[in-house]
Amino acid sequence: ARRRAMVAAHDPAVTTDGVAVPVRANVTSVGTARLAAEAGAEGCGLVRTEALFGQHRQAPTVAEQARAFASIAEALAPHPVTLRTWDVGGDKPLPFIPSREEANPFLGVRGIRAFRTDRTLLVDQLEAACRAAQEHRLQVMFPMVTTREDVELGLEALDEAVRRTGTPRPAGLRVGIMVEVPAAALRVGDLARGLDFVSIGSNDLSQYVLAAERGSAAVGPWADPLEPAVLQMVRDVCQALDGSLSVSVCGSMAADPDVAGLLVGLGAAELSASPASVAAVKERLRAGSLADYRALADAALGCGSAREVRALLEARAVSAL
Ligand code: PEP
Ligand code: MG
Repeated sequence: ARRRAMVAAHDPAVTTDGVAVPVRANVTSVGTARLAAEAGAEGCGLVRTEALFGQHRQAPTVAEQARAFASIAEALAPHPVTLRTWDVGGDKPLPFIPSREEANPFLGVRGIRAFRTDRTLLVDQLEAACRAAQEHRLQVMFPMVTTREDVELGLEALDEAVRRTGTPRPAGLRVGIMVEVPAAALRVGDLARGLDFVSIGSNDLSQYVLAAERGSAAVGPWADPLEPAVLQMVRDVCQALDGSLSVSVCGSMAADPDVAGLLVGLGAAELSASPASVAAVKERLRAGSLADYRALADAALGCGSAREVRALLEARAVSAL
């Protein structure tokens, strides 16, 4: 029985009508990448690089970063690994990236915004990604993108990093953005022009759509990713791209087996979950068809509240037993 369980965990998640949904893992270290591989993750949909080097007092060197990225890629080979560039600010201070006091840090200098005036540390990181990508299957994405100018900043930094390596951009290095700000969701067709993929950060997207700070107990009842307004935005992003680019969801809702099918029904092609939930998410995705999940998504969008959506998902989970 143990052997059967192992095989199932490493099998892909294929719906009953034959649609394969890659289930990748969110990782913060080489150790969690190895755990993810053991759990059957098909690569990594989000490396939180600010956590990977969060203990460092000084910025890690290009060589140090390239080694860490290569080790994570080796742990998950042959699957792809998605590196998110420094997502600093808000809830994620980094000792080596200067920040100033802000009255509303979540509306402040977060993610790629931190590099508008000095992009050195972003270029260093992208150089490390390019160097590691010469031998490993890596892709990069930019966090907290709000405007097309943010995308251009990321792409210019990448060009500069490529020039520093003295070799062409690695052929397999795909480039994407996180969609976690409502403006980016509304304008995703424009923002994603020329890119290879987008990944919906539903933790931040929920906080910004619902104007309710993530992690705050007081506004917990408002900060629910199952609110139909958030689900609507996820579907709108998928519809706007209409299969032209693959859409992944890497926020914590993607790690909830009850919610995974709903996200696929809304149009997500891939999910990225905590290593511990990968196997359960895959198992649940195998239980239904794409048509089932689309019907579920329609039903959820017809609900009046997150509470109703949750009741709908729970009723389905019971009937799947
Ligand atoms: C998100 O915002 O959903 C996300 C995946 O990124 P983080 O939780 O690291 O902000
Ligand atoms: Mg985020």
